[in-house]
Parts: sequence; C-alpha cells; structure tokens
Amino acid sequence: MIGNEVERVVVTEDEISAKVKELAGRIETDYRDRDLLMVGVLKGAIMAMADLSRALQRHVDMDWMAVSSYGSGTKSSGVVRILKDLDRDITGREVLIVEDIVDSGLTLSWLKANLESRGAKSVEILAILRKPDAAKVDVKVKYVGFEIPADFVVGYGLDYNEKYRNLPFVGVLAKHMYS
Ligand code: 5GP
Repeated sequence: MIGNEVERVVVTEDEISAKVKELAGRIETDYRDRDLLMVGVLKGAIMAMADLSRALQRHVDMDWMAVSSYGSGTKSSGVVRILKDLDRDITGREVLIVEDIVDSGLTLSWLKANLESRGAKSVEILAILRKPDAAKVDVKVKYVGFEIPADFVVGYGLDYNEKYRNLPFVGVLAKHMYS
C-alpha cells in the first residue's frame, strides 16, 4: 500500500473534498455572468482541475500549460521555460490559473505576468496548497486551499520522482523513501 509510505498526513481526502466544494462555490459567485477559462499547470494540478471543474455547475473552458523552473535541487529560481503552451489565444479571456502548490511563488508570478502580457482580461490564481515562503513574494493568490508547513509533500497531484501523484491525500513521505 503506497499510503503506508507516508509518514504524516498533512491534508486528508475529506478535507480536500470539502475545500474543493467551498472553492467552487466562491468561483461560481465571483465569476457569475463572466467568462471562465481555467488553466491547469501540468502535471501537479491534474487532480485539482478534475475535482474543481466537476464541482462547478456552470460552463468552464479548460486548457493546460507545462512549465519547468530552473533551480538548484528542490528550489525554483524564477527562470521558467514553457514545455507545453496553451492551445488557444487568450486575448480578452478571464483566466484562472490552477496550481498545486505555491512555495517560493516565483513560478506563478512569472506565469501570471506571461498570461497578462498576452492580453487576457483578467488573470487570477488558485493554489490548493501554500507554503510559508510564499508570503515573501508579491504574487496575489486569490484562492488558497490550505496553508501548510514548509515540508516537502506528495499526493493529490504532487510527486516525488513522478510517484505518489495518485494519493488521494497530501502527506510527508517517510524518511527512508527518499533516495
Ligand atoms: P515555486 O516557484 O512556488 O517555488 O515552486 C512551485 C513548484 O515547485 C510547484 O508547482 C511544485 O511543482 C514544486 N513544489 C514546491 N513545493 C513542493 C512540495 O512540497 N512537493 C512537491 N512534490 N513539489 C513541490
């Protein structure tokens, strides 16, 4: 059981599902009578996009981007490369970026500026998880699921060496699982 490889659960499956419903309710209110294009950041945001979009009782367009941020080890540097771009023009669109986690905030701050420069009408951010360091960077995350400690976490889309994305909860791996 891969769940047994997790030492500590940080956010439970039930907490995620309640939070997704709450966030979907806020999005429905905020975007009432407005356009909504959700842009998921691959691969981490797959679970959040799947759950959030199904909780929305309205039309929503979905697109995806894949980016890689250069950095040393687990820290990102803010220098970002687009691995997969959007499929369409977003001029005049109301974009909601959906991200798994904000750590330093550098990736999101670059992405937001990039999408704004393409002429989007609005660009807001949703992050399921936010770590304490995010407070240091000036990037406004409109919708935050959970504030979590600075530990490296996996699950609900987040990986360690491409594994654990399919865990339905968020947790910290047992020390011996890191190689
Ligand atoms: P930032 O630019 O905010 O420092 O980095 C954000 C990206 O780093 C996230 O999209 C995610 O891919 C990765 N990341 C940051 N913290 C964690 C973590 O605790 N676990 C995993 N698996 N990835 C993380």
